[in-house]
Amino acid sequence: MLNEKAVQLLEKVIKDKYQNVSLDSKYYDENEFYYEFKINEKISENDFKAFEEEIKKLDSNCYVKLLRISGVYLNNNSKNEMINRISGKAFDNIESFNKYLKFLEEAKERDHRRIGQELDLFCFSDYVGAGLPLYTPRGTIIKDELQKEIERVCKKYGFQKVSCPSLADISLFETSGHAMKFKDELFRVNSPKGHEFVLKPVQCPHHTQIFSSKLRSYKELPIRYMESDKQYRAELQGAVGGLSRVYAITVEDGHSFCTREQVKQEVINICNLIKDFYSRMGLWNDVWVSLSVRDYEHPEKYIGSQDDWDICEHMLKEISDELGLNAKRCEGEAALYGPKLDFMFKDALGRNIQIPTVQLDFAMPKRFGLFYIDDNGNKQTPVMVHRAILGSYERFLVLLLEQFKGVLPIWLSPVQVNIVPVNIKYHDEYCNKIKNLLLEEDIRVEYDNSKEQISKKIRQSNIMKNPITIIIGDNEKDNNLISFRKYNSKETTSMSIDEFVKFIKEEIKKR
Ligand SMILES: [Zn+2]
Repeated sequence: MLNEKAVQLLEKVIKDKYQNVSLDSKYYDENEFYYEFKINEKISENDFKAFEEEIKKLDSNCYVKLLRISGVYLNNNSKNEMINRISGKAFDNIESFNKYLKFLEEAKERDHRRIGQELDLFCFSDYVGAGLPLYTPRGTIIKDELQKEIERVCKKYGFQKVSCPSLADISLFETSGHAMKFKDELFRVNSPKGHEFVLKPVQCPHHTQIFSSKLRSYKELPIRYMESDKQYRAELQGAVGGLSRVYAITVEDGHSFCTREQVKQEVINICNLIKDFYSRMGLWNDVWVSLSVRDYEHPEKYIGSQDDWDICEHMLKEISDELGLNAKRCEGEAALYGPKLDFMFKDALGRNIQIPTVQLDFAMPKRFGLFYIDDNGNKQTPVMVHRAILGSYERFLVLLLEQFKGVLPIWLSPVQVNIVPVNIKYHDEYCNKIKNLLLEEDIRVEYDNSKEQISKKIRQSNIMKNPITIIIGDNEKDNNLISFRKYNSKETTSMSIDEFVKFIKEEIKKR
């Protein structure tokens, strides 16, 4: 394999150059290779070019791109010492090598970590810990707007908001089966007073307990709960970075409790909801659907009876055929408790992104002894349909930022309108008046009253990707007008203040 050869070449180059290489090991798969080692010297990405040239000298048919250098703990154990890890990727022809370099450039331009920092959306702190993102005021606005939007859409489909604590007794997750599934990925929280809790890795078990908090009749079903809250998973150290892999993810999660007869309609309901939401977001492109079924050789990985699994898988297949989803059957991709339909998108870089999912579950309601009273007065077990529409806010934000290169639609923008005066000495009062007026109208507005030149202020407004920049000069002040430019446009439009308020509200309403 190419990556195997490449990592051997890298090893040789490093060992030829540095005499004191120790604790080294090599890994590779079809995507990348990794070389881990310890040396006394400090090395950085600045050394990559020299390494790549040396590799080329050793084998002119091996095109190698070194990607990253990072510090990792020996054997992934934080008690051990830190060593270097260099990762890279190899090609056997110049065409695919050049294509890959272009891809990297595009990826760099779209990198959410860079965009997030430029637009001041989130940050990390060594005191708080790696993998625990902090949303800044600007980032929090985006997150809150996303939540409002997803909840607005879900309400139309019958979902009601609930709110549960982050902690639960371990027995909740033992009963649900998640303790078995997540094992060492669970965060356990103990107190000196003897409390033993688990930080929730999922919301489903909590939601079952709201369902069972009172006697339910078939007439009430389906009952649908939704919640956007933090979930916690102890990912491997070193695996976290940016917003893509974090210990605390904010998940938009929901569950429908229904009768067996209602399952089909409920899944259709949710598939429509997914299409509805993603079309509004401008992300319904290149979608394909995976019918994710169990790994037939390892039934021990799942909860529930084989008969129920057969019924569920058959049901989902029927529904996906009926909806014309053309679902691809993927074995071993099912959830702990049942099969699912996963919606896959191609992102701007051509990578597959899986976010929305609908999952059928006959098992968990049985394990928790959930029931409702049917029309004959008998106890029946409901079916649970798990679904995520927006999924994790962190991953969704990554998708949005990378897809739109940080240029968000106006309803999502942290600042919707930025006011720039031509001359602060003469126009300050009028700018303040407009700012207050727009604030009254609940529009997110900023007024740049810094000492900078106007040209610099306009440039800065574009760098911050503000959708609308208002420019105020004598003409605007004397005639009670507003002149503005849209993001990245040099065209200026003028209108009365009333007209502008009406215009901006229409723009914000657009999804
Ligand atoms: Zn669930």
